[in-house]
Amino acid sequence: MIVMKFGGTSVQDAQAIDRAAAIVRERLAEQPVVVVSALSKITDQLLAMASAAGSGNREKALELSRAARERHFAAVTELLGVQAVPQLWAELETDFDALDDLLAGIVAVGELTLRTTDNIAGFGERVSSKIVATAFSQRGISAESVDSRQCIVTDANFTKAVPQFEETNARLAQIVAPLLESGRTPVMGGFIGSTREGVATTIGRGGSDFTAAIVGGGLNATRIEIWTDVDGMMTTDPGLCPEARRIKTISFEEAAELAYFGAKVLHPATLLPAIQKNIPVLVLNSRNPKNEGTRITAAAPRSKNIFRAIAAKKRITIVNVVATRMLMAHGFLKSIFEVFAAHRCPVDMVTTSEVSVSVTVDSNESIAAIAADLSKLADVEYVGRKAIVCLVGENIRSTPGIAAKVFSAVEDVTIHMISQGASEINISFVIDEADVPKVVSRLHQTFFSQTDPEVFA
Ligand code: ADP
Ligand code: ASP
Ligand code: MG
Repeated sequence: MIVMKFGGTSVQDAQAIDRAAAIVRERLAEQPVVVVSALSKITDQLLAMASAAGSGNREKALELSRAARERHFAAVTELLGVQAVPQLWAELETDFDALDDLLAGIVAVGELTLRTTDNIAGFGERVSSKIVATAFSQRGISAESVDSRQCIVTDANFTKAVPQFEETNARLAQIVAPLLESGRTPVMGGFIGSTREGVATTIGRGGSDFTAAIVGGGLNATRIEIWTDVDGMMTTDPGLCPEARRIKTISFEEAAELAYFGAKVLHPATLLPAIQKNIPVLVLNSRNPKNEGTRITAAAPRSKNIFRAIAAKKRITIVNVVATRMLMAHGFLKSIFEVFAAHRCPVDMVTTSEVSVSVTVDSNESIAAIAADLSKLADVEYVGRKAIVCLVGENIRSTPGIAAKVFSAVEDVTIHMISQGASEINISFVIDEADVPKVVSRLHQTFFSQTDPEVFA
């Protein structure tokens, strides 16, 4: 079997869903499980509704909900004709009514919990999977909508719940595998799951890629296809640098570093299940399905270029901890990291000196509380609006003098932190967020103005 995941833009409206159906139809012989995102931007809008309701703005919440309802029904009408499938129509009416009730409930209680946030955030995938399954059925695919909350079991860490693989795999075998065996095409929402007790959760923004990989790993897929709105993984974000080139092949390790450091085309956790089971992952363009995309596998051919790609991750905060009182005493680093761990805040980059430690974290609302806890240990300051730029490639291991080339290309830019060596395949550094476009295009010009045709398109 294979997994085919269609992101938000690939199911954004009737035409996109129609294109997705044509793509899936071509692969029916390979027994696809289809994973879909919410219609593009819907998750953002759901979170905006939840937050409006949480702050007591009932009108705004219900207005946003009405707009989302209209958009979904417009897509359904175009796909299936007016009330062509009364059952779907009625089900969606009930779903949207329940959403409105929930929003009104939040306004009434005057409080928005993470648990309720997740219930609302996952609404987009719950309805998109029903719509896509019905549209596929009308287009010659024997599709069956599957409620992902029945299959993807997670812990209760709402908004970034962690999948429980053993139970999830058992559920997939029990619920999804039999559908495949009977020749049907399961259509599941990405991003969502539920706790053992059945409480709805989500696995983190952009998490539908991860769902695809969880399903692929659980059912031993021969391939995981990520269908999106660009031709594959590119040498850098094409939105940032129009000269970006398609990468034909890339290793799991390189792609994982890029995803972690901001290449939004793949959710950073996507490759974990694929690596474990050695399942190739393809990134493909649903608007240009004939293009061969990017193939991510355990070993990719070496390229003549030093780097395979450049990623940039914005919304970074640097936290500086200066231990004037402790002079980096034994155990000091441990106590610092314990503070971040207690706030469940992952640290990306770390540099140290005799008396100080600097770390970067994704900018988040807990930073003030983290700083307050750290200030019990040492002096603390933090500064946001930073970005990590990360150059990735297996050739870093074997090429001397790379750092000199990188930093001379950006010699006029203020660099706040530098890191190389942790993974042997990445050089990263921290700059001001405002410098990202300049730095990325400068580096791209330096390292990718000529590309090895074996590896880049
Ligand atoms: P989907 O909704 O299909 O999951 P995303 O918006 O999450 O799509 O990811 C696709 C986007 O990722 C592209 O439109 C592109 O702007 C961005 N992106 C960032 N870095 C890269 C990269 N190195 N290669 C390709 N796309 C990238
Ligand atoms: N719809 C979710 C989001 O926007 C998950 C995804 O699209 O991958 O974050
Ligand atoms: Mg995505």
